[in-house]
Amino acid sequence: MKHNWKKLAAAVLLVLIAVCSRYESLRSQPVLAADQTPCRIVIDPGHGGEDGGATGVAGTRESDLNLAVSLRLQALLRLFGHEPVMVRTTDTAVYSAGAGTISEKKVSDIHNRVRLVNDTPGALLVSIHQNFFTQGQYSGAQVFYADDAYSRELAQQMQAQLRASLDPGNRREAKGAAGTVYLMNHIQTPGILVECGFLSNAAEEARLNTPAYQTRLAMTMAAVLLQNLEDANEV
Ligand SMILES: [Zn+2]
Repeated sequence: MKHNWKKLAAAVLLVLIAVCSRYESLRSQPVLAADQTPCRIVIDPGHGGEDGGATGVAGTRESDLNLAVSLRLQALLRLFGHEPVMVRTTDTAVYSAGAGTISEKKVSDIHNRVRLVNDTPGALLVSIHQNFFTQGQYSGAQVFYADDAYSRELAQQMQAQLRASLDPGNRREAKGAAGTVYLMNHIQTPGILVECGFLSNAAEEARLNTPAYQTRLAMTMAAVLLQNLEDANEV
């Protein structure tokens, strides 16, 4: 088992290095001074428990995909010595014990997510979701950002890298989350939300369900995040 782990770690490193080297041509300057730069990633796998989020055309629960990608991202960041804070690591909602009705649970759940981010010193939120639209032809990952310059820059880098590494035909641009996503509007720290793809598109849903594609998504995100954390240390 030990031997297998070493082989896996080496393979992961090789792929990450390949991703990072492609990243070099795309990256721009770090945007915050050292004392402002976030140092602790908070990974938020969207939804969970009885809140499955969107349901794919083939029946995929968004919450399951969010968790699968998030756990891979956690493992990769750990491999590089960064311990992220996880909003959840199992198929559970995060509402408090006193919440009774469905709407109380939803409100409590989102408040707890906001609180966890705001209570984490130096937090950078990375929220993982899947998209859905009423028409099936739309596809492609899209990154949304909280209302600050760091988040916008990070989202643009992430969008460019997702396009370069996974989907050169993806023409989507990073977009502000202001006014649309409660969590992103209520955090007091930088944050991005990655919609990994569209569950309303049958081909993309199938791809998103593939463990290899989930790993590639997580590797791409890890490469961009680690690069920015390294930048923070260098400033
Ligand atoms: Zn969602």
